Amino acid sequence: MRKRACARCGKFVSRAGAPTVIVAVRNGADVFACADHQGELAAPAGDPLVAIAQLQDMARRRRAGG
Ligand SMILES: [Zn+2]
Repeated sequence: MRKRACARCGKFVSRAGAPTVIVAVRNGADVFACADHQGELAAPAGDPLVAIAQLQDMARRRRAGG
């Protein structure tokens, strides 16, 4: 199981129940954030590594059946 905990608070879902998402790639590792901390942890806009990581994450979730 991949580690999907928010890099700030360690939660796997936000208070609203939304799952964490990749917001940055640091040292080759995906950085996840809950809805509360996405703005705080997000990489600068336009980072291609982040876009690729998010697409791969979405594809993984689709293959896993949601
Ligand atoms: Zn958080």
